[in-house]
This record gives sequence, structure tokens and C-alpha cells, in this order.
Amino acid sequence: MKSLLILILLCVAACSAYPLGGTAKDEDTTMDLVQKYLENYYSLPKDAKQFVRRKESSPVVKKIQEMQRFLGLNVTGKLDSATLEVMHKPRCGVPDAGHFTTFPGSPKWRKTTLTYRIVNYTLDLSRDAIDSAIERALKVWEEVTPLTFSRIYRGEADIMITFAIREHGDFIPFDGPGQVLAHAYAPGPGINGDAHFDDDELWSEDTTGTNLFLVAAHELGHSLGLYHSTDSKALMYPIYNPLTDLARFRLSQDDVNGIQSLYGPPTVSPEEPVMPTQSLPAGPETPAMCDLALSFDAVTTLRGEFLFFKNRHFWRKSLRTLEIESNLISSFWPSLPSDVDAAFEVTSKDTVFIFKGSQVWAIRGNKVQAGYPRAIHTLGFPPTVRKIDAAISDKEKKKTYFFVEDKYWRFDERRQSLEPGFPRQIVDDFPGVDTKVDAVFEAFGFYYFFHGSSQFEFDPNAKKVTHILKSNSWFGC
Ligand SMILES: [Zn+2]
Ligand SMILES: [Zn+2]
Repeated sequence: MKSLLILILLCVAACSAYPLGGTAKDEDTTMDLVQKYLENYYSLPKDAKQFVRRKESSPVVKKIQEMQRFLGLNVTGKLDSATLEVMHKPRCGVPDAGHFTTFPGSPKWRKTTLTYRIVNYTLDLSRDAIDSAIERALKVWEEVTPLTFSRIYRGEADIMITFAIREHGDFIPFDGPGQVLAHAYAPGPGINGDAHFDDDELWSEDTTGTNLFLVAAHELGHSLGLYHSTDSKALMYPIYNPLTDLARFRLSQDDVNGIQSLYGPPTVSPEEPVMPTQSLPAGPETPAMCDLALSFDAVTTLRGEFLFFKNRHFWRKSLRTLEIESNLISSFWPSLPSDVDAAFEVTSKDTVFIFKGSQVWAIRGNKVQAGYPRAIHTLGFPPTVRKIDAAISDKEKKKTYFFVEDKYWRFDERRQSLEPGFPRQIVDDFPGVDTKVDAVFEAFGFYYFFHGSSQFEFDPNAKKVTHILKSNSWFGC
């Protein structure tokens, strides 16, 4: 009965995958694909050939279920159209199930400085573009670990990067264009740690072809000891997912957790010592909120709460409960970058604007608004302004102040334009405040300016500084 059921389902699947054909040959092709997929990535025994006609079909169904579970599909055990669709997508050649069979345990590098070498180049891209893609891919991991990478040009590097086609000397041949894009080996000597890219793909800087940076970042995750993740938002998810906006690429929390479970968080520079916090749920590399040297990237209000941004994190202070909560930016707004520059709330629009570099995002609650990020120049800034240091919106006056180096601009929220006569010097209109501003927000009628570990309470009506405080005075340390 079971085998009959499968036969019917396979027919449905084959027909839906090939609606025009439906011939025996198409069905064979599909079955070959399924067979190979389960063999290659889910360790289906090779002798399970022609499983369609076999009575003892449950191992195959189990493998299909395993695959569906791993890739976040509906676990039906059937070759439904969603399952077949995923099987046709380009992906990494490293299996999803189990560990590298030759590398038991969780191999990792026992040193923090690793060498890499780009052994050869694909002709699809310029050498500069390839060098840059690999560098950026390494940086993705460097940023969240104590690891550093140095490039060598001859001899054996820890991570040897090659482009190759078909059989290329490691008994795991590539498969021509499409399907398998690359594979990489877990940490260790020799071939271990190496990353191979299928040169039958058309590699590209954008997503018109196969994006080299994205695939390299994933493969280098393997080179550092990560296996595949079941989290479809993770870089280490096995299916290639071309992001439309590469500028916004970021590791998921799952990737960060994975790599930090092997290597820990980055070593912190002396200016930003990490102190274990007792009461907070300590996320990875959570900066210490009671560190006297603490500075902020940006501070804003949000629906009556205060948000203090620092690196990948933000602290949230509620005035009702007076509690301080530590969060990852990505856990609230997955598409927002870390290390933001400025943030301010326009309460009349229930919107917080977040700035980084030349871009601005608009968020309402935990939703990033459609149409963002936008270029800051759409607000009227000249091209010489490359980033905003800090911003604050005065809800009474309906004016927003943008601080850039030692100057500031004023924006009319009613007219939605920068006002003439700006920029002006900060020192002239905000006497007593440092000429460089990291962050600013408004509370109880005062503007609070931050620079390094100092905070200036400024009375906008009296136009003077009324208190100088430590930056983290809001945390009750
Ligand atoms: Zn992979
Ligand atoms: Zn290979």
C-alpha cells in the first residue's frame, strides 16, 4: 500500500514538475535528481536505486522527510512541488545531514591568525573583483570572531581557494553549470580548510550570475568549521539565496551563534573592555553597559522608550518599568545594519529614522517601512555629506537637526526640506556641547548630546548646557 502511495505521488510530482512533457524520460530525469540529491546531501545509501518500485520504501520517505525538515519545508515525506522546486535550486555541495564523514567531531582552527591563498582565478571577473569578494567574505567572519586572515601568494595556506570544473583532484567532481556551486572542507591540514568554486558557473559581482561574495562567505563558513544551518535566513543555509541588495548583507544571529560557539566573540580593543553583566541576558559580544568608557553610536526615543545603539546591539530603557533590556538590532529589525550612525523619532508619524553611511531606513515598531533604505541625499544634503553623526527631531517646533562633523543642518518637518542658511557651526548654537556629536536625543524638554563617554544635558530654550554626565548615566550603574 505504501509503495503504491509513493508511486502515485511520484507521478503527481513528475507531472507538476514537467507539465508539458510528462514522458517516462522526464520522470526518469526527475527520479535521478531526487536519488542523487538524497545520496549526496542526506546520505541515502547508493543501493537504494530504483526505490520507486521497492516495497521497503520507508528509508526513502524518511530521507525525504529529513530533507524537508532540514530545509524548512512542510514535512510530508512526499515529493510535492515545493520539495522538487528546492531540489532544482543551486546550492552548496557540502551535505546537510551529518558531519563530514572523514572529519568526526567539531574541527576548528587552534590558532586565530589564518592564512589564505587565491590559487587561481575565474575568467568571469576581474582579479580585483575576485580579490575583493574573497576579502569581504573573510571580513564577514572576522568581524564576529577573534580570527584574522592574512593573504599569502605562494606555498600552502590554511585556506586554499581554487576555481575548478568537473573532476578536480578531490574525488568530489563538480557538475557543470547550475546545481552545485562550490564546496569547502572543515578546518585541518592539507585539503582541509580549502574552498573550491565550480568554474562552470558564471560568477558575478552582482546577482546577474552567481554572486561570488555570497557563495564565498558561505564556503568560508565551512572552512572555519560551520556545517549547514536549517535556518533559512542563515548564511549557512545550504540553498543559494541571491539577495537583491548586497549592501545590506549581514550574518544572521544563527551564523553568529554558530561561529562564536567555536571561537568566541572578537577580542575587544582596550577602549571597549567587555565586562560580564550580571542581570542582562548577555548576547554575543554584548558591550558592558556599566563600562565608564562606554560610548554610543546613536540614541533615540521610540514610543516613549529610549534606545541606545552600540555595534550590533541596543539597550532599551522603558520609563514605566525602568528596566533596561539588551537586544540585538537584528532580532528586532533583521534588515537593519549594525554600527548605525544616527537615529531619531518623528512622533507625529510614529516613525524612527535610522542612518548609516549614505542611507536611511524608516521603522515603525518592529517593521522596516517599504521603500527604504533611501539615500540621505534625497533629504537634500549635498554630496559632500557622506554620513550623519547624530540627529534629533524637536516635536514642538517640528524641526529636525542633523549633526555632521562640527556643523548642523535643520530640516523642516512640515515642508519636508532642509532650511536655507544651513549648515551652521554647532559651537555657535549649542554652546558648551562638544563640537563632535556621536548621538543625541530628547527627553523631558532637554537635548542630551553624547560624545565619547561624556553626555551634555542642553536646555534648548536657555541655550546652555545644564549638566555634564557620563554617557551611561541612564543605566543606573
Ligand atoms: Zn555549504
Ligand atoms: Zn573540490
